[in-house]
Amino acid sequence: MKYKRLVLLCLIMISLLPIISACGKEPEKTVETEFLMDTLMELTAYGPNGEKAIDAAMGRIKKIDDLMSVSSETGDVYKVNKSAGQNPVKVSDETMYVVQTAQHYSQLSDGAFDITVGPLVNLWGIGKKEEVPSQTAIDGAKALIDYRKLQIDVSSGTIGLPERNMSIDLGAIAKGYAGDEAARIFKEYGVKSGIISLGGNVVVVGARPDGNPWRVGIQNPFKPTGNYVAVVEETDKTVVTSGTYERYFIKDGKRYHHILDPSTGYPADNGLASVSIISDKSIDADALSTTVFLLGPEKGMELVEELSDVECIMITNDKKITVSSGLKDNINITDEEFIYEEGR
Ligand code: AMP
Ligand code: MG
Repeated sequence: MKYKRLVLLCLIMISLLPIISACGKEPEKTVETEFLMDTLMELTAYGPNGEKAIDAAMGRIKKIDDLMSVSSETGDVYKVNKSAGQNPVKVSDETMYVVQTAQHYSQLSDGAFDITVGPLVNLWGIGKKEEVPSQTAIDGAKALIDYRKLQIDVSSGTIGLPERNMSIDLGAIAKGYAGDEAARIFKEYGVKSGIISLGGNVVVVGARPDGNPWRVGIQNPFKPTGNYVAVVEETDKTVVTSGTYERYFIKDGKRYHHILDPSTGYPADNGLASVSIISDKSIDADALSTTVFLLGPEKGMELVEELSDVECIMITNDKKITVSSGLKDNINITDEEFIYEEGR
């Protein structure tokens, strides 16, 4: 009798073994990388549907890139810019949404962020050209920039630019939207844990497979990619950074980068090296990282403090780190070369 019970117990234990060992194991991990939207995209998903989710998300990012990049001839932004000075053109719902959001941040910053910055972006061609344009050319481009002239008609779904050579540029915001869409698709496929990394834009989906928050590194603006100055712990959030190190050239010892101040016509020169924004939606974080960078340390931090559920990390050229009030207890400065300054 005793012997039978022992055998039964052993059988139960053996049949439970796979379940017991599976409990302690990390779920399956899928990682894919692709070069899209001028940047390296790395998508990581945990769980059985990871590969399908990543494929669908990559497909969606490609579609967004096609619709919203200035150079894609089949896209909406190209069409809008080509029709400048003529009739407004019909755009897709997603382009309308991104344009409206970009217009919101243009208004919020009084044109420091300006969706019609296209002529200036094109003139400098940062990342393609390495030349400081003439003052005449800069003045010419500046004169074409004015978000208040953009014609947005939601009922007919059309967007128009009233003057020839005006153009819109969604380079500061489209990647943020792509991040939100990738996260939405991950969730649609049942992915509860993952990381969407689109260049300097990170979206963390859920928590880490072990239930702890994700640890997101804040790039050292003066060192190659992957060198971090600080770490934040986040669950279901986005961390987006705009920095002078992303796209630039150096001429006569001066750095010319890709975040252009429409009031001067030159790259923003306010002592900031980078701005990281943490928020719920990546489209907002992307628009805000650029906006806050352009507004500068004081006005930029003021704006962040006014907004709910938005936090910020600023790094200056003289290696000072300032964070918004809601982040003080959730940041770990990991590089001793940087000085942590108490903000407000
Ligand atoms: P980000 O890296 O998100 O800060 O975006 C930088 C990109 O935004 C540039 O490469 C341009 O395409 C675009 N951009 C540059 N200056 C401005 C500006 N003042 N307002 C809106 N977009 C801008
Ligand atoms: Mg941005």
